[in-house]
Amino acid sequence: MTALAKTNSKEGLWKVEAPLPEIGPDDVLIRINKTGICGTDMHIWNWDEWASHTVPLGLITGHEFAGEIVELGRNVSNLDVGQRCSGEGHLVQSDSRQSRAGKFHLDPGTRGIGVNEQGAFAQYLRLPAFNVVPLPDDIPDDIGAILDPLGNAVHTALSFELLGEDVLITGAGPIGIMAAAICLHAGARHVVITDINSDRLALAADVAPNARIVDVSKEDLNDVMHELDLTQGFDIGLEMSGNYRAFDQMVDAMVMGGKMAMLGIPPGEMPVNWSHIIFKAITIKGVYGREMFETWYKMIAMLQNGLDVSKVITHRFDVTDFEQGFKLMKEGKSGKIVLDWTG
Ligand code: NAD
Ligand code: ZN
Repeated sequence: MTALAKTNSKEGLWKVEAPLPEIGPDDVLIRINKTGICGTDMHIWNWDEWASHTVPLGLITGHEFAGEIVELGRNVSNLDVGQRCSGEGHLVQSDSRQSRAGKFHLDPGTRGIGVNEQGAFAQYLRLPAFNVVPLPDDIPDDIGAILDPLGNAVHTALSFELLGEDVLITGAGPIGIMAAAICLHAGARHVVITDINSDRLALAADVAPNARIVDVSKEDLNDVMHELDLTQGFDIGLEMSGNYRAFDQMVDAMVMGGKMAMLGIPPGEMPVNWSHIIFKAITIKGVYGREMFETWYKMIAMLQNGLDVSKVITHRFDVTDFEQGFKLMKEGKSGKIVLDWTG
């Protein structure tokens, strides 16, 4: 089969011919239709410090996918050949204390497809049946291929009660933008999303037209808060940039007793003024991945009752043109980029 693998320790990914994955008794084989390019894939493409210490050379990358089940392991009875699906790319064990408590997303032994294990940038993917999430007919493969990052957005956004609350989102990358749409869908009052990249903010305005976009390199967030009569601050903050300036700005803009969920990954150690957080009595929650499988249930339900994030997909390429997709993504001007494997 054709796949995209990290075969050389330098920038790029390479198209390879790889053997068809062999499935075990509890696995399924999925024929891949569409895949999304993630920020994580960009780290692997760039071969930065994190990637070169984490990803084994030769690995097939990619973890955002939609496809169709073509083979079932002998123990798998709850799925069917021909079923369209996406799936959770975090592979977990069942024997850790957290897994046994039903919190699979907190299993310390988690391994990621496309990072530690063979990934989804391939014509076929082996996945434990446990990780498969069937796709309803009304969710197309394009959206199926971005459920992984949509799940990050849903997991973070639904960390705290949103109804009637004022929400600040820092970072209008694809995940921040989708989070804005989710917060509005879930009944937040004001949703403000910040960035320093005007292309990203324009996309945010397209995907979540009722959110207030703020270019913090040009506009003062305090003025916007005044305009919206949010002088006491935001109830909820979703940090989705990984930038410490955005974090500081969020802490300053929170209401007393506000709640913050942190998804963005800082590039290194991050300075934090703890006194601000303590005297404001702020709650901070770190967010990793998606809850298995509540996040998946919730996001599919929201997509089926009107949440529309389709415009966050700005480019589609046939997999033969994958290099164009990665180059575009590197420029930071795109939203989600989806590769088509069906051609
Ligand atoms: P992205 O890099 O596309 O978006 C980040 C955005 O933040 C960019 O548009 C950037 O311009 C903006 N930004 C930079 N400085 C800013 C500032 N001072 N104020 C406001 N915005 C600023 O990322 P993404 O794919 O949307 O993902 C969002 C973040 O979540 C990333 O840091 C990613 O690594 C992280 N992530 C974490 C998990 C997890 O499990 N915790 C999973 C997926 C992604
Ligand atoms: Zn991803």
